[in-house]
Amino acid sequence: MGFQAPRGTADLLLGQAYALNCMERQAQAVFARYGYDLIETPTFEQLDVFVRGIGEATDVVGKEMFRVFSPAALAKLGEGRALKADEMLALRPEQTAGVARAVVQHNLVPPGATAVKFWYKGSMFRAERPQMGRLREFHQVGAECLGAAEPSADAEVIIMLMRFFEACGIPREAMRLYVNSMGDAACRPAYRDQVRAFIVAHADDLCAECVRRADTNPLRAFDCKASTCQAIMADAPRITDMLCEDCATHYAQVKGLLDDADIAYEENPRLVRGLDYYTRTVFEVQVDAGLGSQNAIGGGGRYDGLLQEFGGKPTPGLGFAVGLERIQLVLRALGTDAAATPALAVYVAATGADTRTAAFSLAQRLRDANLATELDHQGRSLKSQLRQADKSGARLAVIVGSDELATGSVVVRDLTTHEEEKVVLEDVVRAIETRLVDDVQ
Ligand code: AMP
Repeated sequence: MGFQAPRGTADLLLGQAYALNCMERQAQAVFARYGYDLIETPTFEQLDVFVRGIGEATDVVGKEMFRVFSPAALAKLGEGRALKADEMLALRPEQTAGVARAVVQHNLVPPGATAVKFWYKGSMFRAERPQMGRLREFHQVGAECLGAAEPSADAEVIIMLMRFFEACGIPREAMRLYVNSMGDAACRPAYRDQVRAFIVAHADDLCAECVRRADTNPLRAFDCKASTCQAIMADAPRITDMLCEDCATHYAQVKGLLDDADIAYEENPRLVRGLDYYTRTVFEVQVDAGLGSQNAIGGGGRYDGLLQEFGGKPTPGLGFAVGLERIQLVLRALGTDAAATPALAVYVAATGADTRTAAFSLAQRLRDANLATELDHQGRSLKSQLRQADKSGARLAVIVGSDELATGSVVVRDLTTHEEEKVVLEDVVRAIETRLVDDVQ
């Protein structure tokens, strides 16, 4: 048997890669309107960046990290020697931790500076059990705003996220935006204790995993997929009943700004999100169409303590990440999937071996004039080339024949109406451009 793509990875074929690329371009266009600048950080980082940034007790760090070893590190391991911290590397499971590390390393947000805004795009890697909408390598776009503590920053990020989804073609009505506040260092510890006590009190009825988590990460019990756990956790204490005054005010202001912007949302006091670093506002967007149990297309929140984890000064921040493959599944289910390779404008056909060189150089001229052009390299018959031209989706074909060439001309064929016209070779680029412009008007 030949090689297969690794489990949980996908070859993006037949327009899928292009569709993802279109979403990235939508992200670029939408996020630029909000002042976001593109950032790239490495695909792998020191393992501790993720342990610090995401949290040891999270599933992502505890169970889903792909480790990276250099040959020297592997040799050391083979000899039973321990690796140094900077030899322990992992593929990024998300990019917020990498961006936070970069911001601290390069001191991009000195105290008192204007907020900086970054967006990113790229592959993330998580060793999860693959299923529909859950891959081991998947693509995200995301955004991070660092330096602004005010509720308007939260509202702006959420509005931008919704505008991005709409720009990708997901109708507003198909999306559910959930918001919650997770409190901060002042009010969350007491809340965690209450949830822990609740789990202990219901230990006989909850699954072993939820009980085990009571000590390390009790809030994760809200995310358990088991229906019995969900039913029990529905009666657990609610964070929104325990927010300190500052957090409650912040949350109320965020909601007020979303109301003003006409953004529909539902409050969900059980939305805790899997990563440790969130404080105050958290949000998630879910869609049913095309997705099974993995129905979150994006989410994020505020992480005011994160930069300190990397040795930075206290710096407020917030952001979100969006899964592009899941958007693609949604668009396909909604029938608005525009996945297609870029449209071809022209197909250049040669009537025989004697005109192939002229056809080749004409194709280069058309491409240099920014016209997407294709031609046959395999010496196929004219009939087969024209069949290919029809299949290719090109608007026009240019037929390079020896008789016409002798008089310095070619035939331009409209592939929709099949009308043909003789055009002087010198003028062919202009003639084609004129027809394509007529199409648009
Ligand atoms: P998270 O960092 O877990 O909040 O993920 C942000 C978004 O990335 C989710 O809402 C999904 O759309 C997407 N995502 C997360 N994990 C996966 C995965 N294993 N496969 C595909 N998409 C994912």
